[in-house]
Amino acid sequence: MRNLEGKTAVVTGASSGIGVAIAKQLAKDGVNVVLAARRKDKLEEVVKEINSLGNGQALAIPTDVSQQESVNSMVNQATEAFGNIDVYVNNAGLVGDGIVRNENVQAWDQMIDANIKGVLYGIHAVLPGMLERSSGHIINISSVSGQEVTKSTTVYSATKFAVRAISVGLEKELARTGVRVTNISPGMVVTERNHERLPNDRKPLQTEDIARAVSYALTQPDYVNVNEITVRPV
Ligand code: NDP
Repeated sequence: MRNLEGKTAVVTGASSGIGVAIAKQLAKDGVNVVLAARRKDKLEEVVKEINSLGNGQALAIPTDVSQQESVNSMVNQATEAFGNIDVYVNNAGLVGDGIVRNENVQAWDQMIDANIKGVLYGIHAVLPGMLERSSGHIINISSVSGQEVTKSTTVYSATKFAVRAISVGLEKELARTGVRVTNISPGMVVTERNHERLPNDRKPLQTEDIARAVSYALTQPDYVNVNEITVRPV
């Protein structure tokens, strides 16, 4: 298994839910982690917790992934603090009103900006350095909604299909460059924000279940690229 100690990772959307679990898991694996999201206070809480454990160090950098300058600035600050970025986890995302007939154009814009453009801006900011070093790993958090569509999630699903398309295409673009790409599609995961909306016929996944999938992809030997992982509740 590949040792992650001393590596540097950026985790977007690390102020709540799955992103927090990914950041904590990586720090536990000895990775220095930059936590990027908009809510500074939430980021600082997680950073404090991680830094008190004494494994990988953490740094909060308030970021809006839907703004390219914000992403570029975060990546520059992250590099100054911890050196080259080895791992970039595109986790930030949001679910809004995805029913096309509701005509909630503002909600579409927000989802498209954060879920699709945010992913591309992150890749754009770190890929040149990874290619130069012939090493690096981009992890995109899509969703089972990137594989199947329901009538209440049309636009959200469209954004998550896009994330998956970006992962699949990028993996082909990056073949033989040494840079790896993994797409992770979680099923229902219980978080603070959605616990009241979850159907009760299945036990939902925990955020840590997705964090372990990230760790699995990252710890494979250099010549192994885990392209796609889908994690669903039983
Ligand atoms: P949360 O709402 O708990 O977390 C979303 C994170 O994204 C927050 O940290 C939020 O931070 C951040 N975020 C949202 N918009 C922006 C933005 N414009 N710029 C920076 N950060 C942003 O949700 P989850 O943990 O559930 O979701 C994480 C990812 O997992 C998402 O991509 C989601 O689509 C995906 N997913 C979740 C599933 C679930 O069942 N929970 C299932 C399948 C996929 P802040 O508000 O501070 O900016």
